Amino acid sequence: MSKVKIQAIRGMNDVLPNQSPSWQYLEQQIRQLMVAYAYQEIRFPVLEQTQLFKRSIGDATDIVEKEMYTFEDRNGDSLSLRPEGTASCIRAAEQHGLLYNQIQKLWYMGPMYRHERPQKGRYRQFYQFGVEAFGMAGSTIEAEVLLLSAALWQNLGLDQYLSLEINNLGTSANRSAYGEALHSYLLGFKDDLDEDSQRRLDANVLRILDSKSPDTQHILEKAPVLEDFIDKDSQEEFEKLLSILNEAGVKFKLNSRLVRGLDYYNGMVFEWTTEELGAQATVCAGGRYDGLVKKLGGGDTPAIGFALGMERVLLMLEDLQRMPAEINQEVDLFIALIGNENQAKGLLLAENIRQELPAIRIFTHCGGGKYNSQLKKAYASEARCVLVLEAEEIKLKILDADVSAEVLDNADLVNKLKDIFK
Ligand code: ATP
Ligand code: MG
Repeated sequence: MSKVKIQAIRGMNDVLPNQSPSWQYLEQQIRQLMVAYAYQEIRFPVLEQTQLFKRSIGDATDIVEKEMYTFEDRNGDSLSLRPEGTASCIRAAEQHGLLYNQIQKLWYMGPMYRHERPQKGRYRQFYQFGVEAFGMAGSTIEAEVLLLSAALWQNLGLDQYLSLEINNLGTSANRSAYGEALHSYLLGFKDDLDEDSQRRLDANVLRILDSKSPDTQHILEKAPVLEDFIDKDSQEEFEKLLSILNEAGVKFKLNSRLVRGLDYYNGMVFEWTTEELGAQATVCAGGRYDGLVKKLGGGDTPAIGFALGMERVLLMLEDLQRMPAEINQEVDLFIALIGNENQAKGLLLAENIRQELPAIRIFTHCGGGKYNSQLKKAYASEARCVLVLEAEEIKLKILDADVSAEVLDNADLVNKLKDIFK
């Protein structure tokens, strides 16, 4: 009987040991950034009531219409794997009273789930880093959120490969007035629109602006424009934001067609895009969503946030060779143990050295084997030094200098290592 090996679910990736240093590097850069801006981490479950996403993201969005992993649990409740973080973040913050009359600057990082066609930069389990700031109206917090994303690109060495596109959707009232105008205009061309856009006409008319169909785009050329529906106050605030960006030297492009796929945005929306990843061009996207907290049962709370696709950033770091070489070096000291009598002795020696030198990374070869084969493994580990325990001797060999091993006693050994790894 042949046993078929079980494979991972399509579009859900394993991160293998040779890939995790890259992940750790990106995660560490993100953590450092969040420390520097004094944002606080929030963690929430991967599973929520389906209703949470339906209410927040919107029924007529791609995510809710066709991408969510939804199922009934054993109690018959409809649950969904989180397709994004904002709704869960608000649910958690609201549930624990973090939003009532308070300012919060929060961030999260973790897996999200969407049933999409897997391809480069698009997966069914993917990781997002997201920022959500609550309780602050106005352009200052908008600028901070944009500046911190720009700082991340700079820290990662990716700034020249990413461009910022930005738009102002105005107030929720402006957005709906524009939606109505667009709706009446497009109704006249209903039969000429692509299929998706026909469906969106009543459900989510602004999304039609995103349509990739050339016919639809042609029809849109003469459509009412969003700028004509924006309040003076909203426009003034937006211009303040743009002037801060100019002063900070952050380049941007205004794009009046940028509406974002999710229903909950108003005011400023933005995307960081790249030409390096083909069709998966958007690396980070977000904007203001002042109405959402209330929609989910909370008070009136101005809010702004973004989500960044971590796999897409990693692909850029790898393709553009921006990953620092030293992240792959995992071992400083490799301990080779020759002969049965040295196994326990070597393990305990490693413990001693760790106590004296807690920062160095020590790999003890526990699998036995001959001197030469262990030395080969030591070279492969890219350790700087090898300790060889053989008979009664401890020999220290420095690999990068390629000097032959010197024999040391226990006391000298620690001093010598302190010297090398200081
Ligand atoms: P796209 O247009 O590429 O489908 P989106 O508008 O659905 O993106 P958002 O919901 O705004 O994406 O999510 C923010 C970011 O998360 C995206 O810009 C992207 O970098 C990343 N992302 C979204 N979906 C996926 C996915 N299926 N696989 C990998 N990354 C993703
Ligand atoms: Mg999508």
